[in-house]
Amino acid sequence: MLKLENVVAHYGNIQALSGISLEVSEGEIATIIGANGAGKTTTLKTICSLISPTSGKIYFQGKDITGRPTYEIVEAGISMVPEGRRVFPRMTVLENLQLGAYLNKNRQQVKSYLEEVFTLFPVLKSRAKQVAGTLSGGEQQMLAIGRALMAKPKLLLLDEPSMGLAPKIVESIFDIITKINCEGTTILLVEQNAGMALSIANKGYVLETGKIVMSDTAENLLENEKVKTAYLGE
Ligand code: ATP
Repeated sequence: MLKLENVVAHYGNIQALSGISLEVSEGEIATIIGANGAGKTTTLKTICSLISPTSGKIYFQGKDITGRPTYEIVEAGISMVPEGRRVFPRMTVLENLQLGAYLNKNRQQVKSYLEEVFTLFPVLKSRAKQVAGTLSGGEQQMLAIGRALMAKPKLLLLDEPSMGLAPKIVESIFDIITKINCEGTTILLVEQNAGMALSIANKGYVLETGKIVMSDTAENLLENEKVKTAYLGE
């Protein structure tokens, strides 16, 4: 469904990605694990065209989307939940969600997507009129995911959904990610919490200083001695 071929990206003179190749198949959860600064966020931003790759190609459902404007990429069916959640703190929960569907002019459809998000996250329904900045961290993460789902993506990109959340909340967020996947959305999940990410993923890529150094089924990566020492704290 998504294919990156030798993607290179820079911030000025700094090379952040040195030739990333990866594939996400329809229906699966793929994860990219790696330390702080490895290039995980840059990879997601490059897929969404928030950063233009210096070279390399990105294909989505067989189409070359490299360097296409971000709104076209959203229209094609890719949504991203950014790192640190980035909800609009002064807007209400409902307004944040509606913004996620800003490209959709079909009001009936937007209403039905909203109902789907409220079914997945009942807490957002009960807080629909509350300003987003007053939600807890976990609720803000739910809102950020809900907002991305309002665009009805085929592929959901998640940037470190566990960041700054208590273990219990992380578990419930990961349960919801699994549920979203079971309901038909393909997922590319970027995480520093490798144990949690690999526990729900089908396959994983290990990213180190802008390079994929390992890729395998999530099951095998969880058993891999190098992964265990470097990323699972064993
Ligand atoms: P984190 O978990 O901290 O988000 P990451 O794996 O997502 O880490 P990136 O944020 O993609 O890593 O960063 C990859 C490299 O690019 C790092 O060396 C980082 O310092 C650098 N970098 C990231 N953003 C910028 C920027 N706006 N300008 C310059 N360099 C940047």
